[in-house]
Amino acid sequence: MRRPDMLRAMLKYPKDLLTLIAHLRKLPGVGKKTAERYAFQLLEWEGKDLHEFAEGIATLKERVQACVKCGCLMDGMRCSFCDQERRDRTQLCIIASPRDAYAIEDTGTYRGLYHVLGALLSPLDGKTPDALNLPHLQSRIEGLGVKETILALDSTLEGDATSLYLKEQFEKLGIEVSRLALGLPLGSSLDFVDEGTLSQALSGRRKF
Ligand SMILES: [Zn+2]
Repeated sequence: MRRPDMLRAMLKYPKDLLTLIAHLRKLPGVGKKTAERYAFQLLEWEGKDLHEFAEGIATLKERVQACVKCGCLMDGMRCSFCDQERRDRTQLCIIASPRDAYAIEDTGTYRGLYHVLGALLSPLDGKTPDALNLPHLQSRIEGLGVKETILALDSTLEGDATSLYLKEQFEKLGIEVSRLALGLPLGSSLDFVDEGTLSQALSGRRKF
């Protein structure tokens, strides 16, 4: 006869719960145990709340779209940045992801526009300069009359390679190039930097 603990080890969750756990585990920082806890917590929710949650996730990508000009997220049909008349159109901050714009806005230091690259150079992963869509970036720079670009990319191998490449391209266009400087720890991602550090890095930027 099997011992009770052996029997317990063989029990599996229902298939639908396993699928939910597998999805939850794709989230950053969520391991097996946490995913199981979340899944069981969701089972406790009211049906109405679960429907609202599921509907919100199912339609998220249709309702939250990227601005065709800058790549930042739009609120409805309006871009929170391009559609603000009072922003300085001669400064363009180059970022890797739309999320980085919010981190920079939190510092209250920057009043220019943004441009989301959406990718960083990484030849091993097939991310060559084509992935950066430079023709679009160049036409924006010319259309807006940009005088200064600020490279606000992660301080990683990919971020540094991309910054170097863009620096060369912008200098060919005769545009001033600066880069986030003081305070960014090596190998860090902008997501994990606190507001004070990021603010210092922005105000202490230097010619690149
Ligand atoms: Zn925009």
